[in-house]
Amino acid sequence: MTQETLEFQAEVKQLLDLMVHSLYSHKDVFLRELISNASDALDKRRFASLTDASMATSEEFEIWIERDPEARTLTVRDNGIGMSAEEVRNNIGTIARSGTQEFLRRARELKSEHPDPELIGQFGVGFYSAFMVADRIELVTRKAGAEGATRWTSAGDGRYTIEDAERDGPGTTITLHLKPVDEEDGLQDYTQEWVIREIVTKFSDFVAYPIRMQVERVEPEKDADGKVVEGGTEIKRLETVTLNSMQAIWTRPADEVTEEEYKEFYKHISHDWTDPLLHLASKMEGTFEAKALLYVPARAPFDLYHPEMSRKGLQLYVKRIFVLDDCRDLMPNYLRFIKGVIDAEDLSLNVSREMLQENRQIRAIRKHLTKKVLEALNDLRKNDHEKYVSFWTQFGPVLKEGLVPWGDERQERVYDLMLCQTTDESAEWSSLEDYVGRMKEGQEAIYFITGPSKEAALHSPHLEAFREKGYEVLLLTDRVDEIWTQQPQEFQGKKFQSIGQGEVELGNEEEKKKTQEELEEKKKTYSELIEKIQSVLNERIKEVRLSARLTTSASCLVGEKGDLSPQLEAILRESGQEIPRVKRILELNPKHAVIARLQERFAANADDPAISEYAQLLYDQAVLAEGGELEDPAEFSRRVADLMAQAL
Ligand code: ADP
Repeated sequence: MTQETLEFQAEVKQLLDLMVHSLYSHKDVFLRELISNASDALDKRRFASLTDASMATSEEFEIWIERDPEARTLTVRDNGIGMSAEEVRNNIGTIARSGTQEFLRRARELKSEHPDPELIGQFGVGFYSAFMVADRIELVTRKAGAEGATRWTSAGDGRYTIEDAERDGPGTTITLHLKPVDEEDGLQDYTQEWVIREIVTKFSDFVAYPIRMQVERVEPEKDADGKVVEGGTEIKRLETVTLNSMQAIWTRPADEVTEEEYKEFYKHISHDWTDPLLHLASKMEGTFEAKALLYVPARAPFDLYHPEMSRKGLQLYVKRIFVLDDCRDLMPNYLRFIKGVIDAEDLSLNVSREMLQENRQIRAIRKHLTKKVLEALNDLRKNDHEKYVSFWTQFGPVLKEGLVPWGDERQERVYDLMLCQTTDESAEWSSLEDYVGRMKEGQEAIYFITGPSKEAALHSPHLEAFREKGYEVLLLTDRVDEIWTQQPQEFQGKKFQSIGQGEVELGNEEEKKKTQEELEEKKKTYSELIEKIQSVLNERIKEVRLSARLTTSASCLVGEKGDLSPQLEAILRESGQEIPRVKRILELNPKHAVIARLQERFAANADDPAISEYAQLLYDQAVLAEGGELEDPAEFSRRVADLMAQAL
């Protein structure tokens, strides 16, 4: 291959731009990223050498750091798995993660007022972070098991060159041509021994391979007996030191590991730059033996809602040996945000991804860990409300996927973990337990309303009768709420009931009876008008009826029990499913002046064209009140304007 100059993929360019111009002052993290990549590459090669006879080697696996103060370069070298030319092009120069476009668009929008590091960390920029400290990077790599090597160079300016190269043995060497030192900007002198020592100890102490570096030692001159010669010349000598302790953090007694160490290990495996919210260590004994160190991140990754979300940082080890990253089978889908290490004693190193699904031990571990994670979250909920709310706002909607009946291992425990917004102003983010505790005498069900936002839900006319009776209603505004509430659900023996579906019957038996009687009475007066309205709106609605749930609004739309809600209909349609439009029920408030006048007008002249205009308006109003979109907004405004002209 002759030298080729190629353009970075547009997304990579944007990401580099975001980073190079970021005000992020903790630039030292670039070294953690490079060491983590080297460590990953060594994991892969070690694993291959143990499971594939053709890859066996007697080499010691290690990471080298070389400093050259004169040339102002810093080199990180590993003898890991390496990359083929094809892999270099695909891995470094392209980002193949779904949601990247969307993430970058958001990042650009927020750039001015949002701190960059949050965003950068959320994305996990890894290798590219080296461009924070280097103005040119050269990478030479050779894939284990292959012959030639590849050189990749770039100044981070949108292009890179790639060509054939030579390298002794497999692995990757990354040389950074460092930017000038600028302490104010967070750029230290990375050619200094102590600077590197400090960074490695802080960020990468537990890396499983020795991180080696040559250092200069100055010693006084000694005589043949080993005594220092007074006034003698100093002797400079090069010495190789290992910078890290290499202890796998999850094998150490929990009380000996500091919080700092836990945090840094999280960043190492997850490539997230923000401290985790929580860690938990767990040990399984008995039939299967395994140790796990799991983390709940503080912030949701940018691709949390993309079906192919990366689960990098959920790693499977077998007896301290790395086997697989991105190990989906270790956690149910609704806990897909959990990161960490699971180290099993009794698995074969040769276990493949496909085999894991069926593996009894993996299933037992997954069950055990699911329980542990849910327990830890429940403890957090009980003990640290503020922290739990911050967890819930990031991951609550994902956790609720555990309630979806056709999801994997439907998990009733999610009810205990749930926080909801409610119509009770004093209870922002209430648990279900607390809600049930506040239920009024005679309240039979857990009432909820779903909607696109808290505001929309709060303004819904469906709430009126509940407000009047003083019943608290849960405001469920996540997309997933539309789905899990479709099936009958129960918490502490109380049924969930949508206030936008079915008929409303509130209060004690006597009150219910009274409401029913009143409605029957009104029906006598209004039955013909109702028929008329029904005939006008026939195309769009299933039924017109008088309402027991409205007190101040004139009309609202409701579904029949078991109907898809309009939001769920929209979600399903968005996801490409063809579903027939669900016709809804228009409820009219017989106590409202508009309905009473309409009746008068209808009684005077059943063919009055105004009746039809008003019927359309009542329907459109009901659509607007629940935050829906009108089929024909222009027609609606014409009707309102006509009406105003008449009234004025
Ligand atoms: P991430 O590590 O989050 O995947 P990076 O941008 O840091 O993102 O790296 C991209 C990819 O390049 C890695 O996933 C890996 O496949 C490859 N890579 C990076 N550094 C090395 C290395 N030292 N040895 C082998 N492959 C590497």
